Amino acid sequence: MRNDPASIKAFLSERKKQSLYRSLRVSQSAQQPVMFIDGKECLNFCSNDYLGLANHPEIITSFKTAADVYGVGSGASHLINGHSKEHQKLEDAIAEFTGRDNALLFSNGYMANMGVINALLNRGDLLFQDRLNHASLIDAGLLSKAKMQRYQHNDMNHLLKLYAKISEEDKSRNSMLVTDGVFSMDGDEAAIRELSNLSKKHQAWLMVDDAHGFGVLGETGAGLLQQENLSQDDIPILMATLGKACGTSGAFVAGSHDLIEYLKQTARTFIYTTALPSSIAAATLTSLKIIQNDTWRREHLRALISRFKSGAEQLEIQLMPSNTAIQPIVVGSTAKAVELSNALEDQNILVTAIRPPTVPDGSSRLRVTFSANHTFDHVDMLLSALNKVC
Ligand SMILES: *Cc1c(COP(=O)(O)O)cnc(C)c1O
Repeated sequence: MRNDPASIKAFLSERKKQSLYRSLRVSQSAQQPVMFIDGKECLNFCSNDYLGLANHPEIITSFKTAADVYGVGSGASHLINGHSKEHQKLEDAIAEFTGRDNALLFSNGYMANMGVINALLNRGDLLFQDRLNHASLIDAGLLSKAKMQRYQHNDMNHLLKLYAKISEEDKSRNSMLVTDGVFSMDGDEAAIRELSNLSKKHQAWLMVDDAHGFGVLGETGAGLLQQENLSQDDIPILMATLGKACGTSGAFVAGSHDLIEYLKQTARTFIYTTALPSSIAAATLTSLKIIQNDTWRREHLRALISRFKSGAEQLEIQLMPSNTAIQPIVVGSTAKAVELSNALEDQNILVTAIRPPTVPDGSSRLRVTFSANHTFDHVDMLLSALNKVC
């Protein structure tokens, strides 16, 4: 972008013309199904608070109690003196919950992905990513200067073909496979068992970003890897965020003792940043307990999802092959997606339009998400609003 007022104005007005302009909504309430946003009440179907924990009283109490002891800011990076007993307890609890040796906290998922991929790959190494992986994984790959190739979504044959084409000279290179566990804009699950077999065959690292599976999938909510019964040997690098189903903030990477020690030495987004507030760690510890104890949250969420799916089928609204809390309605044209989202908003229902470059051109969509705090009535209200606008 040139440093002149006309260029930036032209860019902005072009964005508006293409229905690609993004603007902020201002909320005046906590993250919950019924919110007060931009001065009016609306029913929210776009958050990632899948278990309804972002505003949970016990988690809030833990947050406040820890703030009384530790204050607000952690004041330094983990390796200086910002790493408190709450951080340590949380890392230990995550390792136990996920069945990994150890875990390492990061300030957010974007930084965790940047940190891990760049710690493990050097210029010229080989990186294979699903075409629909989250932007933070793609950006991490670009920053690493590895030779990055993106395989067709969940297409193991395409990935095998890319492997077969590796030059003789590159065959001895360090390589890595990276996938979202649950795809953030589509809601479907990665073929992680196949990926695991492939990574073992080629001695490649395998990393799963389970931002949308952690808390939600698996018998006790440990995520997609628990659901698929895959161990640390099968999936050596597990990353997940704490700002979605956990309802707090931050992210972790879990794996073998040595991998985590290696990341402490080398992951720059871990080393050169201030530790999360201890009160966030304390709140997350409570959140993990609730995730494991409140089986009803996952059950209710599943019931909401099936009610929505069968309701949509009756209304002949085309959904994607997703069984998770992410239920996109692909409409194709960006203008149409924005128009539908606005029409829903007129009925006080909030479903955001997801547009390029977040999703590929021609696949703009309404991304409907559910939370365990929704009721069946909420789902029915959404269905009847969709019936009116679609
Ligand atoms: C949200 C998300 C991230 C980023 O996590 P933050 O903690 O919000 O920075 C990374 N990967 C995936 C798949 C995500 O959905």
